[in-house]
Amino acid sequence: MTTDDPRAELASLAASLRVYLEWHQDSGTIGFTRRPRSEVAAAVAPAASTEAATGASASAAPSEEATATSPAAPGAKTDAPKHEETPVAKNEATADARHTRLPLLAAEVASCTRCALAPTRTQTVFARGNPDAALAFVGEGPGADEDAQGLPFVGRAGQLLDRMIAAMGLSPERDVYVCNIVKCRPPGNRKPEPEEMAACMPYLQEQLALVHPRVIVALGNTAVGALLDTKLGITKIRGQWKLYRGHTLVMPTYHPSYLLRPSPQQIEAKREAWQDLQLVMKELGLAAPRS
Ligand code: URA
Ligand code: SF4
Repeated sequence: MTTDDPRAELASLAASLRVYLEWHQDSGTIGFTRRPRSEVAAAVAPAASTEAATGASASAAPSEEATATSPAAPGAKTDAPKHEETPVAKNEATADARHTRLPLLAAEVASCTRCALAPTRTQTVFARGNPDAALAFVGEGPGADEDAQGLPFVGRAGQLLDRMIAAMGLSPERDVYVCNIVKCRPPGNRKPEPEEMAACMPYLQEQLALVHPRVIVALGNTAVGALLDTKLGITKIRGQWKLYRGHTLVMPTYHPSYLLRPSPQQIEAKREAWQDLQLVMKELGLAAPRS
């Protein structure tokens, strides 16, 4: 982002805000709560950061941007930045091992019976996206849709995840790698048990070592707990850079399922998740979405 040209910065902020509002629209937000002006001013005053400014304008004055990108304006999404090639480069030293070993690992997982989740799965769910990507998203485990299709994040939460990725100006197929803590669906979508996660973690560890992303986004409590070996809740830890195994940057943020669930905190949580993703973009040297 240009910081020395205030007009460019304003345009970039407006573009960010538009993408943020589109994301709300896509994920079914009905309306925005409006804080009294005095409260908004108080919230903005001490913070000079663009994130704070974006958040404040989102709750204070969404109307113009929202109308400009309402469903009545087809093609509005086509002005998201297009990258000819993966916009984020990374160290290619392990590329050979990655391409030979990952399919073997996936095959090993496919016949795994290490934990109690094996007998009830339809199939294992290894990953989707690009193993050469510099950005990885890690979720909890497959749900019904994932179990049926054999791919992670293909249900409703997955669709929101793809919107979030697109809002970052990235392609879900080309620019990111997506996987889970456990590779088999826990019956009834319950949380995976600690023994199940422990049994499955070696697969994820090898997977991440091969993919070797520059940044991992940990989605929700289960992923954060398993990757960072912490019991801290997501609301406490989100938005703060952490390290996976002492070497790879992790950004903990909310799970997309949480963002889809109506709650009094939903709008604020979405704003925070978008803030977290903007930190990731900044770290990867990605420009803020522009029109
Ligand atoms: N939720 C997850 O954590 N992972 C998936 O793959 C789908 C939903
Ligand atoms: Fe094996 Fe992981 Fe599936 Fe358990 S969840 S059976 S450890 S692949």
